[in-house]
Amino acid sequence: MEGVQMSYAPASAEFDAVLRGQLLDRREKLEEARPRIGLDSDFSRLLNEVDAALARFDTGTFGLCEECHDPIEPERLIADPLIRLCLGDLTQKQLDTIQDDLQLAAEIQKGLLPTIALSSDLWNVDFAYHPAGVVSGDYVDVIGQNGELYFILGDVSGKGLAASILMSNLHAMFHALIPLDMPLCDLMSRANRLFCESTLANQYATLICGKINAHGEVEFCNAGHLAPIIVNHAGSVQLDSAGLPLGMFCDSSFVSSGAKLNQGETLLLFTDGVTEANDHAGEEFGITRLFNAVNGSLGIEPTELLQNCISSVSGFRMNAARNDDLTMLALKYSGGN
Ligand SMILES: [Zn+2]
Repeated sequence: MEGVQMSYAPASAEFDAVLRGQLLDRREKLEEARPRIGLDSDFSRLLNEVDAALARFDTGTFGLCEECHDPIEPERLIADPLIRLCLGDLTQKQLDTIQDDLQLAAEIQKGLLPTIALSSDLWNVDFAYHPAGVVSGDYVDVIGQNGELYFILGDVSGKGLAASILMSNLHAMFHALIPLDMPLCDLMSRANRLFCESTLANQYATLICGKINAHGEVEFCNAGHLAPIIVNHAGSVQLDSAGLPLGMFCDSSFVSSGAKLNQGETLLLFTDGVTEANDHAGEEFGITRLFNAVNGSLGIEPTELLQNCISSVSGFRMNAARNDDLTMLALKYSGGN
C-alpha cells in the first residue's frame, strides 16, 4: 500500500509512545532473564543499548539520526527501535548486512506463496506477485479445505521489511484459522482481533478472504480492499462489497457477500499496485483500463488472463518508476454448476 507509510508520522506522540512501550517491555524481559544468564557481555551490551534508546526519549532525540540529525526511516525503527543511524549514514558493511537480511526475508517470503497445484477439475488458479522492492507487503493465498477452496488477497500498510513481517503474520494466522472450519464472518472477526493485537496502532491490512464450492458459489468478506471483478459473458462486473480494514479496530465485525461463477467465469482479485500504477505524467492505470484488459476473456486460463493484465499495466507505465507492490489472483471456475 503506497503512501501509507507517511501516516506513521515519525514525530507523533503515538508513534513514540508505542515504541517506548515496546522498549520498556524488552527491558523488563532482559531484567527477568538476567539472573539466569548472568553478566554475559552480549547481554550487557543489549541492556545498555535499550537503556540508551530509552534515554533518547527523555532528551527528545529518539528516532533522529546521530550523524545528520534527520529523522530515521520509521519502518526501520518499527523493525528495530535500537537503530541510531539513517540509511544514508550507514557504512557499506552495515548496508551489506541489511541487504543480506532483505535477501533472506525475500527467500522466506517466496516460500509463503501458494502452490497452484490446487487447481483441479473444478477450478484453475494462478497469481502474479511483483514486489516493488526486494520484499512485498502484499499477501496472496489459496487453501483447500473440505472440498472448498479458500482464497485470500491482502495489502499491508506501508512497504518493505516491516510490511513483509506483517504479511507473514497474516499467512500464519489464516493457515491456523481456516482448518477450524468456522463461518467466514467469524473467521474474519477472529483474524481481525489477532492481527489488531499483534500490530502497532497505525498498522493494518486491506484484505479479501473468501471461498468457492463445487457449485461455483462464492462467499467472501471484504476488509476495506478493492472490490473483486468477475470476468463473465457480458464483459466484467465489479462485486459490490465493503468493510473496515483488518487490524484497524479490535472488535470490528464483518458481513459476507455472495456471488456465483458459471462455467468458464473467473474471479479476479488485485491490489492497488495495479489500479494505482502511474505513467510518466502521474496518471493512474485505473479500473477502466483493467476492465478493458479483461473484457472478452471468458474461458481463458488464469495464467493468460494475468499476463494480459500485467502487459496492459506495463504498456501503460512504459518505463515510469514502480513504487508499489503489485499482486493479482485469478480463479477460474471450470465445474458444471
Ligand atoms: Zn543520517
